[in-house]
Amino acid sequence: MNSNPQQLDAARTDRLAELRREVDSHRGDRPHDEWSRIAVSEAIEAAFEGNAAIGVLLVGPGGEVIARDHNRMFRPHFRSDFHAEMVLLTAFEETNRDADLIGHTLVSSLEPCEMCMIRIINAGVTNVLYVSPDLGKGAITGPNALAPHWARLAEHQHFSAADCDPRLAEIALEAFGLAIGDVVEKLMARRSQP
Ligand SMILES: [Zn+2]
Repeated sequence: MNSNPQQLDAARTDRLAELRREVDSHRGDRPHDEWSRIAVSEAIEAAFEGNAAIGVLLVGPGGEVIARDHNRMFRPHFRSDFHAEMVLLTAFEETNRDADLIGHTLVSSLEPCEMCMIRIINAGVTNVLYVSPDLGKGAITGPNALAPHWARLAEHQHFSAADCDPRLAEIALEAFGLAIGDVVEKLMARRSQP
């Protein structure tokens, strides 16, 4: 794993390292603890890279983890679409041409945003779990309803919070909070005039 802290101050780097140790050593017996642990571990890795702290994994119909990744908006180079879910689904669709995702489960460390929600609907992943809700802001718990055609497609999918140790959800949200300020500032810097 590439752990090259970018633009995080020492305090936040230290805190992320603490969270990573806690996640790495976490052992739980809730149904989605292991998947959630992987998603949060990927989220922390993203933060160390200077990316937004969101991690994701894809689980096959038999319960096997077939892909894991994280947000890559700034590293290795700027990609405005490379939220974690987008990175994973793009790679999957490129390497598994025309394969469907029936019976698959996508697990995100944080409730998907609206861009990723539409991508997930188009991809047709049967099950979507999120470790932490993004209360009032995400595409599932947030205020905005899906347009009718998206809603129709989404009827064939299941969206819910992961059944995991609440501590993993706390860590997912804390890691996101540690990194998002810098992410927004880097996006703002792309708007400033010389
Ligand atoms: Zn997103």
